[in-house]
Amino acid sequence: MAKISDILNDGRTISFEFFPPRTPEAEAQLEQALRELEPLRPSYVSVTYGAGGTTRSRTHELVVQINRDLDLTAMAHLTCAAHTRAELAEILATYRDAKIENVLALGGDPPQDLDLPPGELEHAIDLVRLARGIGDFSIGVAVHPEPHPRSPTLESDRRFTAEKLAEADFGITQFFFEPEHYFELVQSLHGHGVDKPVIPGIMPVLSLAGIRRMAELQGSALPAWLVERLHAVEDDPAAVRRVGIDEATRLCSNLLEGGAPGLHFYTLNRSPATREIAANLGLAPTR
Ligand SMILES: Cc1cc2nc3c(=O)[nH]c(=O)nc-3n(C[C@H](O)[C@H](O)[C@H](O)COP(=O)(O)OP(=O)(O)OC[C@H]3O[C@@H](n4cnc5c(N)ncnc54)[C@H](O)[C@@H]3O)c2cc1C
Repeated sequence: MAKISDILNDGRTISFEFFPPRTPEAEAQLEQALRELEPLRPSYVSVTYGAGGTTRSRTHELVVQINRDLDLTAMAHLTCAAHTRAELAEILATYRDAKIENVLALGGDPPQDLDLPPGELEHAIDLVRLARGIGDFSIGVAVHPEPHPRSPTLESDRRFTAEKLAEADFGITQFFFEPEHYFELVQSLHGHGVDKPVIPGIMPVLSLAGIRRMAELQGSALPAWLVERLHAVEDDPAAVRRVGIDEATRLCSNLLEGGAPGLHFYTLNRSPATREIAANLGLAPTR
C-alpha cells in the first residue's frame, strides 16, 4: 500500500470512490464494481463516511478489507459532523493501527433525519490538525470549485479552502460540469500561495432527475447547455446516459489537457459509466 501524496508525485492518477453498502444486494453490487474496475489499475480508491449509526464501522471494515484483500490502496473518508474530538481521535488511531495511511478529512453534513449532537470540531481543517497529531497519514481535503453552499461568499470559501489545503497533502473537488470552474479554483488557490495537487471529482450524468437532486444538494450548477442537451432526449434513458458519458469524457479530456493531476470518479458503486469514460479517453494511470 502507499501514501496518496507519493502516488501523486509519481504521475497522473485515476481513482474511484465507493460507499459502504447497507444490504446484501448492495454488497454484491459493490463487489461486482470493484471486480470490474480493478483491471483499470486505479491509483487508489476511497470509501465515504456517514456520521450516523453503523456507517462508521462499515467504512472502517471496507477500507481495511480493500487494503488487505485486493491489491489496491484505499483511503478512508472521515467527517467532523456529530462526533466528539475524542471519538474522532479514537477512529484515527484505529486507522493508524490498521496501517491505513490515507484519510480524507471532511466537515461533513449533520444528518437531518437523525437526532445527533453537533460535532465538536467545527471545520475540516480542525480534523486535518487532529489527524496530523495521531498518525503519519497522507491527508486529503474536499474543495469546492463552485463555493460550498454554506459559504457567505466565493472569496471566503477560497480563503478557507486555501488555509485548509495548505495544511493537507492534496484536495479532491466536488463534482462540476464546466472545466473553467476547476481552472479558476486552482488559479485562485495559487493566488493564495497554495499549489498542492487538486484532483477533479467527476460525476457523469446518468439521469436528469438524479443529477438535479445531487447538484442542488452539493451546490453544483447544471449549465443551461447541458440541461438543453439532456432535455432534448429526456424520454429516452439510454440517450440521456449517452449524453452524460459524452460530456463527462469531454470534461475529463479538457481537465487533463489543462494539467489536472488526475481524475477521481464518483462511481456510486457501479462500474459501467466509469469504464466507458476511461475507455473513451484511452486512460490508464501513469501511477
Ligand atoms: C471529494 C469529496 C468527498 C466527500 N465525502 C464525504 C463523505 O464521505 N461523507 C460526508 O458526509 N460528506 C462527504 N463530502 C461532502 C462534505 O462533507 C460536505 O460538502 C460538507 O458540507 C463540507 O465539507 P468540507 O470538508 O468542505 O468542510 P469545511 O472545510 O469545514 O467547509 C465547510 C464550510 O465552512 C467554511 N469554513 C471552512 N473553514 C472555516 C473557518 N475556519 N471559519 C469559518 N468558515 C469556515 C467553508 O468555506 C465552507 O463554507 C465529500 C465532499 C467531497 C468534495
